[in-house]
Amino acid sequence: MASIFTRIVEGEIPCYKIAESDRFFAFLDINPVQKGHTLVIPKQETDYLFDVENETLGGLIVFAKSIARAIDTSLQPIRTGIIVEGLEVPHAHIHLIPIYDANQSFSLGRSLSLPSEEMQSIAQTISAEVHL
Ligand code: 5GP
Repeated sequence: MASIFTRIVEGEIPCYKIAESDRFFAFLDINPVQKGHTLVIPKQETDYLFDVENETLGGLIVFAKSIARAIDTSLQPIRTGIIVEGLEVPHAHIHLIPIYDANQSFSLGRSLSLPSEEMQSIAQTISAEVHL
């Protein structure tokens, strides 16, 4: 069965999309721990990030860099951090999490509850600064 992220890529399930290339896709995490919390995935479904073959893994990191730069420019965090966990969704993904406060707890703990209009606005704001 297709992963929930494959179903998002294929448009079966809605998302707050930020950008896509032929091989990669970026969208807001539905349970953001910070404003602009973004997931970056390879379209090809592999459960474990470190099972992704080298060329795709390298491409994913470069794609993530473009998205992180767009987050930095648009939302002006101190910087954007990365977390990889993958315990919930078996489709390799990188969490890009803007850090707005040096004392911020940097983890996938408690999430914010943001209205749909704000999520849409954040996605559009980041998307406008993406240069692939
Ligand atoms: P992990 O697998 O790294 O533990 O976390 C998976 C992440 O995917 C979680 O942060 C969760 O909020 C996010 N997530 C799960 N289902 C959906 C979904 O349907 N849409 C979006 N945008 N994010 C999701």
